[in-house]
Amino acid sequence: MFAEVERIFASWREQHGFQPDACGIGFGGPVDFPTQTVTLSTHVKGWVQYPLVANLKQLTGAPVLMDNDANVGALGEAKYGAGSGADPLFYMTLSTGIGGGIVTNGAIYRGADSYAGEIGHLNIEPEGPDCLCGSRGCLERMCCGLWLENDYGKPASVLLQDEQFVRKYVVHLARGLKAALMLLNPARIVIGGGISKAGDRLFVPLREELNRQMTAWSRARRDVAPAQLQDDSILYGCLALAGAGNHKMR
Ligand SMILES: [Zn+2]
Repeated sequence: MFAEVERIFASWREQHGFQPDACGIGFGGPVDFPTQTVTLSTHVKGWVQYPLVANLKQLTGAPVLMDNDANVGALGEAKYGAGSGADPLFYMTLSTGIGGGIVTNGAIYRGADSYAGEIGHLNIEPEGPDCLCGSRGCLERMCCGLWLENDYGKPASVLLQDEQFVRKYVVHLARGLKAALMLLNPARIVIGGGISKAGDRLFVPLREELNRQMTAWSRARRDVAPAQLQDDSILYGCLALAGAGNHKMR
């Protein structure tokens, strides 16, 4: 994997004389932010406590800052996309898997151990099917693209064309979002990732179901919007993360 990164970087350097001022990484797995280490990767074999940042610093000669991809996506949407002006913001990727990120006062809220925002493994159906994490009926297990295709034999984009299916689907999804609303009272929830591209076919019934499920006395707003930066939320987030101010903080 890193050899591939080296090849791409070398080709940019040759073709465009590319020299970055700073580099941001949105890594698809848990990241220990204070030590800037990949904790582990379920996608890249052997990347346990992998020094990606040190290796990339050496390769590029630029300062490098890394965070979990959902956190970085949240920052991208907060600064440049659908979360602009919404503070605090809760961002969720609804894609092959499910991730979440919280942005408040323009910065990612990471919690005590860099694990805040991990909405994908809230239990939505306690007696539901086994999740890869060892628990059952997690939001990710019930709602992500990988499992939808596994359970129903069709990709999410096809399943979400079916109104009946969407009505069942949003019940699980809204349970996850309700937890975010009750716990964080976000000014807005922004949903990105491939499944969010279903647009109103998903968002209209989702908002209805969320209103139905919300605790009656809660006046917490229920502002749920699709991501604006689409596939580029994480790239824009990397730009924000790599900004000079963030490097000075470290
Ligand atoms: Zn799980």
